[in-house]
Amino acid sequence: MHTPHINLIGAGLAGSLMAVYLARKGYRTTVFERRPDMRLGGVSAGRSINLALSARGLHALQETGLYEEIMPLAIPMYGRMVHPVDGTPNFQPYSSDGQQCIYSVSRGELNKRLMTLAESFPGVEIRFQHTCEAVDLDSGAIRLRDQATGQLADAPGSITLACDGAFSAVRYAMQKLPRFNFSQDYLEHGYKELTIPPDAGGQFRMEPNALHIWPRESFMMIALPNPDGTFTCTLFLAFDGDSQSFAALDTPDRVRAFFREQFPDALALMPELETEFFENPTSALVTMRCYPWTAGSRIALIGDAAHAIVPFFGQGMNAAFEDCSALSRLIDLYAPDWPRILSDYQALRKPNAEAIADMALENFIEMRDLVSDPEFRFRKRIEHQLGQRFPQYRTRYELVSFTRIPYEEARQRGERNDWLVDELIARGLSDPDALDFGLAEELMEEYLADA
Ligand code: FAD
Repeated sequence: MHTPHINLIGAGLAGSLMAVYLARKGYRTTVFERRPDMRLGGVSAGRSINLALSARGLHALQETGLYEEIMPLAIPMYGRMVHPVDGTPNFQPYSSDGQQCIYSVSRGELNKRLMTLAESFPGVEIRFQHTCEAVDLDSGAIRLRDQATGQLADAPGSITLACDGAFSAVRYAMQKLPRFNFSQDYLEHGYKELTIPPDAGGQFRMEPNALHIWPRESFMMIALPNPDGTFTCTLFLAFDGDSQSFAALDTPDRVRAFFREQFPDALALMPELETEFFENPTSALVTMRCYPWTAGSRIALIGDAAHAIVPFFGQGMNAAFEDCSALSRLIDLYAPDWPRILSDYQALRKPNAEAIADMALENFIEMRDLVSDPEFRFRKRIEHQLGQRFPQYRTRYELVSFTRIPYEEARQRGERNDWLVDELIARGLSDPDALDFGLAEELMEEYLADA
C-alpha cells in the first residue's frame, strides 16, 4: 500500500518536526492544528516557556536541517547551580569532564521555526484552527471542526499520525477499543512559571550557563535562561495542604513570606513576584501511558499523545523528537509497507517511553531532595572519579542527556552504576578523592562483563 498523502494531527513540536521528516521524503502532508498560527502573534505556545534540549533532540534537528538555525538561540547549561536556603550557590557539572551541556531553548521560537521549515516544502500544508474531533479508526478518516466558522468537515482516510499532545483526541478514540491499555497518574504537585528579569543593563542576574535549582525536599524551584536576559523560573509545589502548598499561598503577603523563607536570593530578583504568582496559571503534572500506539494499520500516536511524562529529566520533547526520527528511519527501510512501519515503530519505542517515564519520576526526587543531600553528593563525586578514569563509565544522566543509547538501556546501565558505587562504599571507600583505582578496575571488569 503506497500512500502519497499523510494527515498529521497537531502542529506542536512533534507534529511540525514530523511534517519536515515526511516532506523531505516527498510525502504530501496536511497538518491540522487546533490553535491559530502562533507566528501571527497573540498565541502562546502553551506549557513551559523554555525547554531543555539535549542529544536526542539535537540529533533530530540535525537530521531535519534546523540545527544551524536553532543553535544561535540556544543557551548552553553545563550543570546545576544549587541554591541552598542560606549560603552561596554551588555548581554541580553534568559530566565528569565538565564539558557536556544541555541547551535552554524557547518553546515558541522552536515551534515557529519548525512550522516555517515544514511549510517551505511544496507538499506540506498546515491548517490552523482545525480541531480533530473524531477519527474513524479503520479508515483513518478524521472529522475536523473549523474553529473560525464552527463548520465540521471530514478529511478522507489516509495514514494518520496523531501528534496532538497529552490529551490526544485520537488516543481518546483508541481508548474505546477492546484491550487498549491506558493509565494517567497525576502528581500531587503542580507548577507555576515566574520570571527573573534582567538587570538595568539588560544582563542576566544569575549565571546564565547553568540550570538553577532551589531544592527544598518536598518541593523545589528551577530556573532556565532565555536569550533576552530573563530567567523563567518554575515552582513545583503540592497543590493542597495547610502549608507549603499552592492552596496555602492565597494572599500576596503569604507568597512573599514563603519566598523570603525558602528562596531569599531569588526573591530579591523577582520584582513582579506577587503579580505573576496570581496571574499565571497553576498547572498539573501527569504521566500517561498507553498501548498499543497504533490502530489498524493506518494510525499511530507520536510524542506526548503516546507517552506524556513529567518534566524532571527534561526529556519529553527530546523523546517525542526521537519518536519522529525512529519513524522516519523505518519509513526509509520499509515504505510502502505501512503496517510493518507502524508496528515496528511502536515495538521499538514503547519500552523506551516506559523507561524515560519512570526515570523522569525518579529524577523529581533527585532534583528536589538529593542534590542537596550529602550522601547523594558523595556518590556523585565517586561517579565523577569513575567517569574521569574509565571512559566506559557514564552516569545515567549523561547516558540520557548526552547520548542516544536507548532509554531502556540507559536505565539498566544506571542500575549497574548503582551497584558499582554501592560495592566501592561497602568495601570501605570513604573519600572519593582517595578512590582505590585497582579495586575500581576489578569491579569495572565485572561491571562490563554484565553489559
Ligand atoms: P504538544 O507540544 O502538546 O503539541 C500538541 C499540539 O497538538 C498542540 O499544538 C495542540 O494545540 C495540538 N492539538 C491538541 N489537540 C488537538 C486536536 N484535537 N486537533 C488538532 N490539534 C490539536 N521536554 C523536554 O524535552 N525538555 C524540557 O525541558 C521540558 N520541559 C517541560 C516543562 C514543563 C512544565 C512541561 C509541562 C513539559 C516539558 N517538556 C519538556 C515536555 C514537552 O513539553 C512535551 O513533551 C512536548 O511538548 C511534546 O510535544 P508534542 O508535539 O507531542 O505535544
